[in-house]
Amino acid sequence: MDNKTADIIAAGESRARSLDEESLAWLLSLEDSSDGENELFEAAYRVKCAVIGKKVSIRALIEAGNACAKDCRYCGIRKSNARIERYTMSAEEIYLAAVAAKEAGYASIVIQAGEIESPAHTAKIEEALKAVSALDMGVTLSLGEQEEEVYRRWREAGATRYLLRIETSDPRLYARLHPADHSWQRRAGCLGILSRLGYQVGTGVMCALPGQDAHSLARDILFYVKADADMIGMGPYIPHHDAPVPEAPAFSPDARLHLALRMIAATRLMLHDVNIASTTALEALSPDGRERGILAGANVIMPNITDSASSSKYRLYDGKPFSKGAAGAAESLKCIARRFARLGEKVLFNERGDSLHYAKKSGSNQ
Ligand code: SAM
Repeated sequence: MDNKTADIIAAGESRARSLDEESLAWLLSLEDSSDGENELFEAAYRVKCAVIGKKVSIRALIEAGNACAKDCRYCGIRKSNARIERYTMSAEEIYLAAVAAKEAGYASIVIQAGEIESPAHTAKIEEALKAVSALDMGVTLSLGEQEEEVYRRWREAGATRYLLRIETSDPRLYARLHPADHSWQRRAGCLGILSRLGYQVGTGVMCALPGQDAHSLARDILFYVKADADMIGMGPYIPHHDAPVPEAPAFSPDARLHLALRMIAATRLMLHDVNIASTTALEALSPDGRERGILAGANVIMPNITDSASSSKYRLYDGKPFSKGAAGAAESLKCIARRFARLGEKVLFNERGDSLHYAKKSGSNQ
């Protein structure tokens, strides 16, 4: 490893939020499997262990529906994809999935779905949240852009966290990947509203997008700092065979994986105390992708407990791993815990795993 790389890594490890765009871009440009890249992962993992511990927080992911009003040009469930069968879980089905999650050892769930803005959808999610609140679990919503009033109703009904990826902090790149009626400004504005309403706010981007370079990704990390994010959920962009956005020829699956891992590590060197997810898309690129995400500085995993018939329709990109459903959730969680134990990491059964950053800034424990 050269001196410049060593100096940047040491600076990030010793002081949070201290690296500039140039330094972050340098780390993100390290060569796959090089000495410098390994040192970066090791340093980010040291920060994770020192600040958060050798612990992995868990959330059960419920993919509550693939109907979507958005037409993001990279996404398999975008509105104009007529080749997929649509499904929507009822409030009761969402509640029953949360019960199954609780029985399996989860104290937190993530309810994710395509983006729908309608009074019926708002009311259904509200009803589900009210029922789930009796289970005393941490609840993350990932339901896209909504009006402030909708976010408020869901917060009052029991949601504590909201995950809304900005997808890219570059409005021009965003415009190339989305139709003209999709607004980067609205998406960014939603993050501010969510924060004001007291949610633990999560955001993130896709890495290895066509037209994205290391400087753009470096600015994504600076965007997280500016947004004062409590949670980060990022992953590699993976092509979908039916999507209009093509595969960027420059990236092999392995290069996508490495770039996404460097992005996790560089984010951890900047944001020492936020929750960072090791996401499903990493697992899609490598069977041990989730573990590698944790060893690069992430501290949260979100195993999918959606029933397999629905999960097979929630196909955002090619090769997305399908859930085996809630029935096997307890067994599969024990298996995950054993895999992490081999790395010396403890999976936190029955613990919510709230964001340390959020707790510090609000002085609260939700
Ligand atoms: N509707 C919600 C929203 O807009 O945030 C959540 C559902 S959306 C399908 C969840 C995430 O999937 C998006 O934020 C995006 O980053 C990711 N995604 C979509 N297509 C993808 C692809 N081809 N590769 C990797 N991730 C993708």
